[in-house]
Amino acid sequence: MNLTVLGPPGAGKGTQAQRIKKSYGLVQLSTGDMLRDAAASKTKIGRQVGQLIDAGELVSDSIMIEMISERISHDDCAKGFILDGFPRTNCQAVALDMMLEEKGMKLDYVIEISIDDEIIVERIIGRLNCVKCGAGYHDKFHPPAVEEVCDDCGGTEFVRRADDNEKVVRTRLQAYHAQTAPILPYYRERNRLRQVDGMASIDEVEKQIAAILDGSRTA
Ligand code: ADP
Ligand code: AMP
Repeated sequence: MNLTVLGPPGAGKGTQAQRIKKSYGLVQLSTGDMLRDAAASKTKIGRQVGQLIDAGELVSDSIMIEMISERISHDDCAKGFILDGFPRTNCQAVALDMMLEEKGMKLDYVIEISIDDEIIVERIIGRLNCVKCGAGYHDKFHPPAVEEVCDDCGGTEFVRRADDNEKVVRTRLQAYHAQTAPILPYYRERNRLRQVDGMASIDEVEKQIAAILDGSRTA
């Protein structure tokens, strides 16, 4: 089973992808994480990628398509994957279908997590992740059960992303509306788009997604 989760920054894509990964044994492919790793390498291309992330702008389609095409060829993806942050443009959406077809694979589900723009800044400003295992938290909406201790791995160090500030979030949101939201009709017209209410609690959104994945599996 292969799927992608779409939605603006802060919609809950990473949060839900981590849960789906655990429940369904799929591989989580976060293009944001891959790019942050590339940026940390400090190669010429890594530095360019880092500058785009810091500015809240999208990395070029050619880089992204090559990155995903290469990654989904790895053996671990044969058990199924969740794309988190890809596709983000029409060009990426079309290329994804083509590359999957070439590899004899397909995208089984496209899930849109919809939320209102007004709550995005609060979601993003409060985000933090465990350094050791990457588990995502929120200061207010999803703090660790024991203060400053990761629920999943017991880690005690947390990190906030440099691009998770109000100014850059607004640019990222603009990029979403200008470049990513236009891909929704591509999937809707082909009857492939399923929507969940990203304003609901994290547990509730998880249930809505599970209903889609389980419902279709038995249908
Ligand atoms: P995305 O990957 O779409 O950018 P995240 O999954 O990282 O978003 O979520 C952004 C922040 O909002 C995180 O701090 C997360 O804990 C929190 N969050 C995610 N889903 C919800 C929700 N349904 N209700 C409240 N907070 C949420
Ligand atoms: P994310 O972790 O999904 O919030 O992504 C962080 C940043 O990585 C974005 O603001 C973009 O600069 C870049 N990025 C992630 N995925 C893509 C993509 N599919 N296409 C272009 N840029 C991307």
